[in-house]
Amino acid sequence: MFDIKALLRPHLLTLKPYSSARDEYGGQEGLFLDANENPFGTPGITEAFNRYPDPYQIELKKAIAKVKGIAQNKIFLGNGSDEPIDLLIRSFCQPAVDKILILPPTYGMYEVSAHINQVTLLEVSLTADYQINLPAVLAAIDAHTKMLFICSPNNPTGNLMNRASILELINQFKGLVVIDEAYIDFASEESLLSELDAHPNLVVLQTFSKAWGMAGLRLGMAFASEAIIHILNQVKAPYNINSLTQKSALKILEYAEGKNQWVREILENKEILTKNLEKLDLVEKVFPSDANFLLVKVKDAPSVFHYLIQEKVIVRDRSRVQLCDNSLRITVGTPEENFILIQTLKDFSDSLTDNGNQ
Ligand SMILES: *Cc1c(COP(=O)(O)O)cnc(C)c1O
Repeated sequence: MFDIKALLRPHLLTLKPYSSARDEYGGQEGLFLDANENPFGTPGITEAFNRYPDPYQIELKKAIAKVKGIAQNKIFLGNGSDEPIDLLIRSFCQPAVDKILILPPTYGMYEVSAHINQVTLLEVSLTADYQINLPAVLAAIDAHTKMLFICSPNNPTGNLMNRASILELINQFKGLVVIDEAYIDFASEESLLSELDAHPNLVVLQTFSKAWGMAGLRLGMAFASEAIIHILNQVKAPYNINSLTQKSALKILEYAEGKNQWVREILENKEILTKNLEKLDLVEKVFPSDANFLLVKVKDAPSVFHYLIQEKVIVRDRSRVQLCDNSLRITVGTPEENFILIQTLKDFSDSLTDNGNQ
């Protein structure tokens, strides 16, 4: 059976985490002379930030638990979802011994976090149609492989991973399977959150940075068994989510309908943008997307990219990434922004014909 203690880095079994004075008190009201804060307030602004934030974000987790239908003790909140990515690797992977497995082309932070933590990276490329190569993944896993990262919908390819393949890996793999659902609000399929109770080795990551429009406030979520969440809580910095973020997120969560409306608009604009891109001669393929961006294969990605940059239209050049040759990753913007993008791409094509005629 799945044994979280056998997976954890051994020295963390006896970790004594930092405990703030307020952890021991637990109440809301009182004379707080325990944390060496400024008792008067914060200079220059009416909103006071002189008190330390709630280290376990209880109010916010209550609200998220309600929205997601997940028990509070199965939720971890991080400074973006990049924080739980690092904490998971740091907590479960012994440097220079353990390994994580990723499925490129995919999100860059898994590799960066592995390198920072001196953890070996196993890579099993996605198939030509950007799906999980199940036999190759199962063959690559060895005794030191602690964690698989699966991004679905995947960045930068935009597609969902086959759900049956994901479930197969969760069932077969003895380590943690981390599903990064940063773009799940835009997807045509449900989240894997519903699988959490049945699978103690599953971790689902989501974020407030994309659909919720909170990238600047830095708030990410990890959903997992109580045992895994307990470990993340012990290893994290005590006050990892600041007061402004906690307060703002509580307010923003009341406006889920506003978020949903924007998601619908972005999806409609994605369809229009896809059609307009497909009309351009320089576009070879617009890949199907379950996210708020498009992977677009063009004739000469570096020159298109540099022309766009010159015109102050910034997209992501993914042409040096495996299986993404000559491809740009383009975020769906407002209708005006999408229009300017298309016009600029037309100008680029025109500039080529002009040169050719000279
Ligand atoms: C944008 C993104 C994130 C979000 O990171 P935050 O730290 O929460 O802003 C996570 N995973 C993927 C695949 C992303 O594209």
